[in-house]
Amino acid sequence: MMRAYFIQSDWRGHPLAEPVFDHEDEVYLPGVFCPECGADRLFMKFCATIYTTSEVVEAVRELLTSYQPRLEKVRKWLKQPIDESRLQNTLLPEDFTELCQEVRQLLGLPDDFPLSERQCIAARAFFRMPRVPPEWDVWGGYGLGYLTVSPPAAQLLQYSGLTGFELHPVEVLDKRWRLVRDYVVYELVFRGRGGLPRTEPEGFWRRCTRCRHWQLTDYRAYDFEIDPSQWDGSDFFHFVDYGPALVTERARVWFEQSGLRLWVRFSEPKEGWYCRYLGGEARDRAHAENIRKYIPNWRAD
Ligand SMILES: [Zn+2]
Repeated sequence: MMRAYFIQSDWRGHPLAEPVFDHEDEVYLPGVFCPECGADRLFMKFCATIYTTSEVVEAVRELLTSYQPRLEKVRKWLKQPIDESRLQNTLLPEDFTELCQEVRQLLGLPDDFPLSERQCIAARAFFRMPRVPPEWDVWGGYGLGYLTVSPPAAQLLQYSGLTGFELHPVEVLDKRWRLVRDYVVYELVFRGRGGLPRTEPEGFWRRCTRCRHWQLTDYRAYDFEIDPSQWDGSDFFHFVDYGPALVTERARVWFEQSGLRLWVRFSEPKEGWYCRYLGGEARDRAHAENIRKYIPNWRAD
């Protein structure tokens, strides 16, 4: 059995020691809503920032303006109103796919380069850190897509034999917002593909005919493991090209034995986290189920 491990933040009670990640001169791709399956986080594949020049950021901004009329089309498909500010910034799946292709051309990226909804494209990014060098070697906290590692951790990782990641250097500002010279930290970006995970019970994966994304059709206490026939062999990966960042047993053991100061911990998938893969209706059922569980006296009227 090949287990996948989920990464959680573990700041060891030092909330003031955590870095703040920020961008300058950035633009965000819109979100996606699929009327067929009702899902709206389908394209969440790859959350790390894409770095480029100010000229390209400006060109992407202009391209997004040309998509403005299409953003409105989503409204007529909605059964119930969603947050107005989000609606202003949401495309139908086929429009999003077309937009991504144009963005790839502007950025000079290959046709299969993964782009995510709400993806950030920036000319400059930085971490603002209370202490330089930091008290950690491996830090996480932005959820789905990546980890942040110190220079010693980046060095060790390059010779670790682990696969499926990229390291991107990011500038560091001190607590007075001054650039720290000759020092960077690294974003560790998850690039591996896990394919469809094996689930226990089986038989609940379905692919939406419109947005082409795989989703679970029922809310169950699934047990996930890697299917070696679909997984690309990477130690850092996402299942079905989206959802949480995951590592293999080999990577978990490597980190735990590395001697690095880990401000993350690895846990086996548990009830709840697989909700990322649920389709629209299954997600509504899961939501109702959770409300019943955690707010026992709540009644839907
Ligand atoms: Zn769909």
